[in-house]
Amino acid sequence: MKKQTLCVQAGWEPKNGEPRVLPIIQSTTFKYENTEEMAMLFDLKKEGYFYSRLQNPTNDAVAKKIAALEGGIAAVLTSSGQAANFYAVFNICEAGDHFVTSSEIYGGTFNLFAVTLKKLGIDCTFVNPDASDEEIQAAFRPNTKLLFGETISNPSGTVLDIEKFANIAHRNGVPLIMDNTFATPINCNPFDWGCDIVTHSTTKYMDGHATAVGGVVVDSGNFDWEKSAKKFAGLCTPDRSYHGLTYTKTFGKMAYITKMVVQLMRDLGSTPGPQNSFLLNVGLETLHLRMRQHCQNAQKVAEFLHNDPRVAWVNYCGLPDDANHEKAKKYLPNGSCGVLSFGLKGDRATAAKWMDALKMVAIVTHVADARTCVLHPASHTHRQLTDEQLREAGVTPDLIRLSVGIEDVDDILDDIKQALDKL
Ligand SMILES: *Cc1c(COP(=O)(O)O)cnc(C)c1O
Repeated sequence: MKKQTLCVQAGWEPKNGEPRVLPIIQSTTFKYENTEEMAMLFDLKKEGYFYSRLQNPTNDAVAKKIAALEGGIAAVLTSSGQAANFYAVFNICEAGDHFVTSSEIYGGTFNLFAVTLKKLGIDCTFVNPDASDEEIQAAFRPNTKLLFGETISNPSGTVLDIEKFANIAHRNGVPLIMDNTFATPINCNPFDWGCDIVTHSTTKYMDGHATAVGGVVVDSGNFDWEKSAKKFAGLCTPDRSYHGLTYTKTFGKMAYITKMVVQLMRDLGSTPGPQNSFLLNVGLETLHLRMRQHCQNAQKVAEFLHNDPRVAWVNYCGLPDDANHEKAKKYLPNGSCGVLSFGLKGDRATAAKWMDALKMVAIVTHVADARTCVLHPASHTHRQLTDEQLREAGVTPDLIRLSVGIEDVDDILDDIKQALDKL
């Protein structure tokens, strides 16, 4: 089925007489008739629900829809996008390991990688995503376990050369993991270009209405863990906490996702509430319609800003002279996303003055929902970063991040114009 249909139909498939709409199974636990059956579940010898920290039917139906949209074999919902990226890395990295990541990533992910994972003994090297193959290759070490990047970076809008990244990762016997939050599966399926594992902050376009924080990890099932068995001992050697079961031998292509559920969810427990997953599912039903409108509106706003003399620069890969335009034509032929960034002529205070003059467009710590909103990363999301780290993350002090919503574009433009007139 086409993506438009999957948005509406995939995931929950009711049997005769069951609810048409995905039910919210708001239950922490599930009942069994005898001890043996429950024991089989605990030993992973049988599939079934027993405790919602590990699995819940509402969550699973929504994960199934997202897996279908990404063209993956399985997915796990997490309680946030942060948890999704943490799990995606921690599922195959432990103390003493290393990974390579694009430096142009979301500020929260940057902190997770540069500070918190280091405390767990997991080291990483940041590379400029537009660096040459050789320069990126030079960051690899014998203990490197994965390569990471964002399809469209938040907030700098850099489009990842996915094929280049996938080739480098595979040459080194490691998977490419990509955060596909901004493109969404409507505008890009990284698996089609060689990416192995995809993550999302579902908080953004997937939910789309700013109602529920959440995340997801999707596995393509394509990476051959056994081929690099020494690197991925956690997947390819017996797990003490499951009576010596080996994930790749017992679960085959499902090894990575199964380990994430039965080990990381069991021990760390970043599981979403079923109510939130229900809201996410309602959002997903219109994702294909909303993305089209976000992209059309953002293109018009980007063109307006590009032509206004009070604007110093605009980053939007839909603009023909944008540095990311060629990559976007290849990887995002149907549109990118509604988020663009720009700088006003003047200083830091000019940005604040313009933002304070906006009437409809609100200042919020959010992007990628139905309502147009604006943020100044240097003073908000990225304020923990030094100027040097800011530049590495592709953020300049004057950068304004504008998340164009799905309102009538003329109203969005009117608000932008009246605020510019007040400068
Ligand atoms: C927001 C965001 C995250 C973090 O997601 P939360 O749901 O806020 O935890 C990760 N990656 C990207 C690209 C994001 O935009």
